Amino acid sequence: MTEFTLEVAERHWLSEETFEIRFVRPPGFDYLPGQKVGFVDGAARRDYTMLGPVAAGHLSFCVRLVPGGRFSPKLAAARRGDRFAVTAPFGFFTFAPSPRQAVWVATGTGIAPFVAFVRAGVRGFDLLHGVRSPRGLYYREELARAGRRYRPCISGPLPDDYDGPSPFGGRVGDGLRAGWPPGDYDFYLCGRGEMIRDLLAIIDSRYEGAHVHTERFY
Ligand SMILES: Cc1cc2nc3c(=O)[nH]c(=O)nc-3n(C[C@H](O)[C@H](O)[C@H](O)COP(=O)(O)OP(=O)(O)OC[C@H]3O[C@@H](n4cnc5c(N)ncnc54)[C@H](O)[C@@H]3O)c2cc1C
Repeated sequence: MTEFTLEVAERHWLSEETFEIRFVRPPGFDYLPGQKVGFVDGAARRDYTMLGPVAAGHLSFCVRLVPGGRFSPKLAAARRGDRFAVTAPFGFFTFAPSPRQAVWVATGTGIAPFVAFVRAGVRGFDLLHGVRSPRGLYYREELARAGRRYRPCISGPLPDDYDGPSPFGGRVGDGLRAGWPPGDYDFYLCGRGEMIRDLLAIIDSRYEGAHVHTERFY
């Protein structure tokens, strides 16, 4: 099952609960933007999506530390030189260009495959990123620059000093309904299963004929 060993190169925190971790890219490790690897931890496996760019000399991941979780605390505590066994890259949550407008919807670290798409040169998309606080808007400048529309959906209170792109105050489903009239879209949904379930119900009732791609993180 294990195909590669990844060696930690660097880790830095993006917020109190989320960090980016970089590994030395092993020879022969090739992947498509949006793919992930499984980190093998005894009998368990946890999947994480590469951020890209695919040609970089390192492999980067954006990881939320789940307190009390089995594996994410091990990544959070990892030091330079530590090694982890992973599967080969896999998965089908990749970007397929089409004449329809692409609308990407992420919650939390579900932003990872969209960062990979942007780093592979995809432009002109609409993106809704659902977070509890603006601190969770990782990669926002990069994403906002590349997209046609970038709409943070912030469900918690907005701090007085917030100076980011115009936010929607609420969940991504409500943000979608408020800002995207019925039309011809390709939806890409990534993150919490609950968000994906809610969005599928909205898409079924409001965006007839839309194409939908989903990636559930947990
Ligand atoms: C295809 C795929 C790609 C993924 N890519 C990423 C990624 O790029 N970055 C990333 O951070 N995670 C990603 N995940 C989630 C990751 O695989 C783990 O599930 C997560 O890190 C928790 O693992 P754990 O062992 O620490 O917690 P566990 O011991 O598995 O879980 C403990 C509890 O926390 C809940 N939980 C799990 N994940 C979260 C979360 N993010 N927030 C809140 N509660 C949670 C679980 O439901 C469970 O109740 C991905 C999952 C899948 C299936």
